[in-house]
Formats: sequence, C-alpha cells, structure tokens
Amino acid sequence: MSLNQARQLSRLGLKKLRKNVAKKLFSQKASVTGATFDWEDPLNLESQLTEDEILMRDQFRAYCQEKLMPRIVEANRNEVFDREIMKEIGQLGVLGCTIKGYDCAGVSSVSYGLLTREVERVDSSYRSAVSVQSSLVMGAIYQWGTEEQKQRYIPQLAVGEIIGCFGLTEPNHGSDIGTMETNAKYDEASKTYTLNGAKTWITNSPISDIFIVWARCDDKKVRGFIVNKKEHGKGLEAPKITGKFSLRASQTGMYLKTKHDAFIRSTKDSQPSTAVSCSLATYRQSRLYLSILHKTYTLKKV
Ligand SMILES: Cc1cc2nc3c(=O)[nH]c(=O)nc-3n(C[C@H](O)[C@H](O)[C@H](O)COP(=O)(O)OP(=O)(O)OC[C@H]3O[C@@H](n4cnc5c(N)ncnc54)[C@H](O)[C@@H]3O)c2cc1C
Repeated sequence: MSLNQARQLSRLGLKKLRKNVAKKLFSQKASVTGATFDWEDPLNLESQLTEDEILMRDQFRAYCQEKLMPRIVEANRNEVFDREIMKEIGQLGVLGCTIKGYDCAGVSSVSYGLLTREVERVDSSYRSAVSVQSSLVMGAIYQWGTEEQKQRYIPQLAVGEIIGCFGLTEPNHGSDIGTMETNAKYDEASKTYTLNGAKTWITNSPISDIFIVWARCDDKKVRGFIVNKKEHGKGLEAPKITGKFSLRASQTGMYLKTKHDAFIRSTKDSQPSTAVSCSLATYRQSRLYLSILHKTYTLKKV
C-alpha cells in the first residue's frame, strides 16, 4: 500500500467515524450511560409538569400551529398585526391567564410560560403582544389598580376586546427610569394631572385602547397613569415605528404629546393621595420601584 493510499483510507475512516458520532449526537434518543437523552428536552422538564399543564399546552400548541402559523409569513413580510388574533387568543383564555377572578383563568405561572412559549415558537411578535397585554398591562392593573379599574379593564383585556400598552422607555433615556423626563403635574384647584413627555419603542401602542404611562410627579415619585384613548384621546398620538428588522408583525410605536397637553381629571373629588408605592415586578423587578394611582381619570384638552 502506498503512502497516499494509506492517507486516503485514514481520511475515509475519519469521515465515517465523524458521521457515526454526529448521527449518535443528533439522533432523537441516544443512549448515554444507560439513560435516554431527548434533545428536545435535555433536562427532562416535561416530567416536572402536571397533566393539566401538559393538556393546556398541547391544546394551545394545536391552535398556534394550525391557526397562527399559516398567517404569520405574510404578516411578518408586510408588518401587519391582526387584532382578531388577540381576540382568538383571548377566547382561549390565554390573556392574563394567571390572574384570579375578573374572567381570567387563574392558572400557574408555569402554565403561562408554556403558553407563551407556544406563541413564541411561531413568532415573537404575537408573543410580545400577548405578554405585554397579560403581564405589563393586566398585571399592573391587577396588582396596583383600584377595584373599579380592575372591574372595568381586566375582563375586556382578557378577551382581547381592548388592547393595552405599557410606556416606560423614552427617546432620550431608554429604560433608565432614574432619568425619566415624562412628568405629571397635579393641579390642586382642578384636581387634574397634566402629562408631558414622550415614550418610544412601546409594543402595541399604535393600536392600543389604553396606555399605562409612567411619569414623574412633583414629589419625584414615578407613578403609572391609565390613559384611556377614547376618553383622553386629545393630544395623544401613537405613531408606528416601521421598518424593524425583527418582530415585524408587532406594532411597536411611540406615545407623544403633540399640540395639546394631556389633561387628566380625577372623576373623584379628592386628590389621588391614595397612590401606593409598589415594585414594578412585571418589568424590572430589581431596578424599579414605582406606583400606580388609585383613581379613575378623564382627560380633556387645555
Ligand atoms: C421591539 C421592542 C419592543 C419594546 N417594547 C417596549 C414596551 O412595550 N414598553 C417599554 O417601556 N419599552 C419597550 N421596549 C424598550 C426596551 O424595553 C428597551 O429598549 C430595553 O429595555 C433596553 O433599554 P435601553 O434602550 O435603555 O438600552 P440600554 O439599557 O441603555 O442598553 C443599551 C446597550 O448598552 C448596554 N449596557 C447598558 N448598561 C450597561 C452597563 N452598565 N454596562 C455595560 N453595558 C451596558 C446594553 O447591554 C445594551 O447593549 C421595546 C423595545 C423593542 C426593541
């Protein structure tokens, strides 16, 4: 055997060996020291789930694969968000599914994670819309809103009848709340707030019916205001950010004050001094300490 022939054979041998190793590594269930290895679930998380969690996940997976998947390619290509999809997901009980009461399912956080993973498996845009609606909007109202606000907004948000967004990030300071410019001025005489400032990169904002807007008050505390577009719409603009490279079907936009100041009037006579300090666990648990006002507001032009 010539030296060249020997090299050739050794190369072929290596090739075969590599092929065999790759085959073993990527086979669905390779046997490693007697235990079965599932590459789809290497930590065997499935074994930690309850029957209910698996059932719920599998049912929602069927919806996502059969109903959402066929619509996402065009939606992504053309930057289209279909509000009907939020209603469908709402009908399945997924929106705000961890909330107890207010027409919500009250399932475990694990179930919520499993459900959002099924949307994410198809497309991040709808997952983003679902988690903003569920955690940042419904979650904030559920945790810190008044009973009146909860009764009024959560059931509608749960079925996707109305869409909400959460405005924290700003053009000049990103999500650094320490330097937040948006402010809320309280007028004792009229018992009203005037919101001033701009937010950007806000998921759902161009199609939102309610906006949770975070603003700094005169006492330097940051508080959340529920701005209802129907009632507080004057002076509120929410243009869409177009041409994103990803999450293209997601409606990401801004929240701007344009010609008029937003003018928020408390429908109750008293000053909303019942604002409670709370941690904004749903967003930056370790970094932010915010509060939401315990009042219902209407808005008028000044
Ligand atoms: C599609 C989309 C949807 C969004 N939806 C919402 C929404 O619904 N509501 C909302 O309020 N916001 C939203 N945002 C904004 C988003 O939450 C912020 O952009 C994000 O939190 C990052 O914050 P930032 O822009 O302030 O960046 P920064 O925190 O300033 O980070 C910028 C860069 O600097 C790096 N950096 C930051 N600090 C340090 C440090 N100390 N040391 C080293 N490196 C550092 C970061 O890793 C990053 O690379 C959205 C953004 C996108 C893209």
